[in-house]
Amino acid sequence: MGKHCQWRERLQKKGYRLTIPREVIIEVLRNSTSHLSAEDIYMELHKKYPAIGLTTIYRTLELLVQMKIIVKFDFGDRRSRYELSEKYGMKKHHHHLICSQCTKIIDYTDFINEELELIEKTEKRLMKKYNFSITSHVISFTGICLECKKDQT
Ligand SMILES: [Zn+2]
Ligand SMILES: [Zn+2]
Ligand SMILES: [Zn+2]
Repeated sequence: MGKHCQWRERLQKKGYRLTIPREVIIEVLRNSTSHLSAEDIYMELHKKYPAIGLTTIYRTLELLVQMKIIVKFDFGDRRSRYELSEKYGMKKHHHHLICSQCTKIIDYTDFINEELELIEKTEKRLMKKYNFSITSHVISFTGICLECKKDQT
C-alpha cells in the first residue's frame, strides 16, 4: 500500500468521519497540481455531485484546514486557495512564487542551499527563543511573473 490510501486510514485513526464532501474535496485536491479556490473545486465537482453546493465546500474547506489536512493561502486577491498539506498530499515540500498580477502560483523545490540553511537556523533560533516547537512552515514570495512582465513592455 503506497502513500495513496494512507490518508484515509490516518483520518479514521484520528476519529474523523469521512463524509462525502470531505472525501471528494480531498480527492479533487489530490488530483490537482495547482492551488484551487473554493470556486474551482465547486466547478470540478458540480457535474458529478450537484448536491454539494458552494456553501458546503466553503464549510468543508475550513474544517479540513482546521484538521490540518489542507493548507489555505491568502494571496491578497480575496480568493483563498487550497492545497493538501505535506502530510496528506503528493507534492514534495515546496515554496511559492506568487504573481500579484495574474495570481499564478509557481511551486519550487529547487531550493538554494543558503535558503535551506537560513530556514533551518531561523527555526532553531525561534524554537529556542519562544520555546515553541515548529513542525512546518509555509513560505511564499510575491512578485510579477515572466508573462506579466512581458505584457508590460
Ligand atoms: Zn521550506
Ligand atoms: Zn503573472
Ligand atoms: Zn504549492
